[in-house]
Amino acid sequence: MKIKTIPVCLLFTLAMLLMDGFTGTALARGNSGQSTFDTYFEKKSLRIDFALSGDVASQTAALQQLREEPLWGGPQRNLIDSSGYGGYYVNVYDKATQKLIYSRGFNTLFEEWRTTEQAKTEIQSWTNSVSIPYPRQEVVVEITGRDRKDMQFRTLLKTAISPASIFIDRGRLKDNKITRIQYTGEPSGKADLVFLAEGYTAAEQDKFEADARRFTELLFATPPYDTRRSDFNVWAVGLISEESGTDVSGKGIFRQTALNSGYYTFGLDRYLTTPDMKSIRDAVWNVACDAIFILVNAETYGGGGMYNFYAMGTADNERTAGVFVHELGHSFAGLADEYFTSEVAYDADFYPLDAEPWEPNITTLVDFGSKWADLLPAGTPVPTPLEDAYTDKVGVFEGGGYLAKGIYRPKVHCTMRDYAPFCPVCSRAIQRMIDFLSDK
Ligand SMILES: [Zn+2]
Repeated sequence: MKIKTIPVCLLFTLAMLLMDGFTGTALARGNSGQSTFDTYFEKKSLRIDFALSGDVASQTAALQQLREEPLWGGPQRNLIDSSGYGGYYVNVYDKATQKLIYSRGFNTLFEEWRTTEQAKTEIQSWTNSVSIPYPRQEVVVEITGRDRKDMQFRTLLKTAISPASIFIDRGRLKDNKITRIQYTGEPSGKADLVFLAEGYTAAEQDKFEADARRFTELLFATPPYDTRRSDFNVWAVGLISEESGTDVSGKGIFRQTALNSGYYTFGLDRYLTTPDMKSIRDAVWNVACDAIFILVNAETYGGGGMYNFYAMGTADNERTAGVFVHELGHSFAGLADEYFTSEVAYDADFYPLDAEPWEPNITTLVDFGSKWADLLPAGTPVPTPLEDAYTDKVGVFEGGGYLAKGIYRPKVHCTMRDYAPFCPVCSRAIQRMIDFLSDK
């Protein structure tokens, strides 16, 4: 998901509704918590690299590489992800009993590519990667993909993996400089945010560390993160690039950088991403990691973020702070874009209007009851008109998810639309994800 072209001027200064003590169900609860983890898993990771190939009509998945890595920073109690967020899921079953013992949803850049014009005329193959806690016994790992026609998940890959297999790479990778920006406790009980340096040369590593510290302060000055600082660890990994900056392919500029990032993703000048998931995963092999923000040493406006995959933004643009929390909204909490007036590379049917999108902060009204109906003030009409009585409150306002008609958002303004403060619906989704990742 990308950032909009021109931010709307913010005409209001209303404070965020306080989100203290929100009610509602959490994303997931491990039934028997820690003991389940110890029964099935060791405190290290199994990284699974796989290819996704296809076009607009279909996709397939194929295994590429398995790696044993030394840390598991994810939850140890919340092992089953019942949120339904994401275009894909990794499901892990105990082979002996067929019991589901781990699951987690995620998005990929490949699935966005599948909605572009290019995908109507050619087939591509992209590398992706997921990490799961390291199994003690043989497991069956399944990757499923969501079918946009009916929003259901279908199996793309299913394979048995023995933890003792000689086909698992157990080697070390490059030891990059890892800086603890903030440490509040054992990673399994914290949301571990990792900043990766992109486009910083060896001589610019001090700048990277200073930028990562500045971004950390920006995050924890932003509601609702400001009240949850003690639930986060923050790390910075100092990847060294040969050249400063990033690619601007539309202008013929190419830089030799650690993570092969660039603007002009899918032809959009401001859409800054990298398809190089292997290098990203190589960079975090020895750091606890629940969320990745790739900090790009550049000044030009741009960024991108995909749920439970990574987010990216530039260090030195005047709107850097807004882009950062917006993109992290996508990658950390699965939030959709609430804007609908900017150019995007997707077809109009990015969100089919006859299905309820999975993102928590938009609705097609197909199943609004599963969204923020419980946060609507009594008597609020659905849809909600843009009248003074409603415009500073939670409602169901038409326009969002790149479409002016047929998709609805919770508040007139929000970080996910125009860099205003997060609306209460997005705030709740962020809070719930912090709870999930910090094993609450
Ligand atoms: Zn919102």
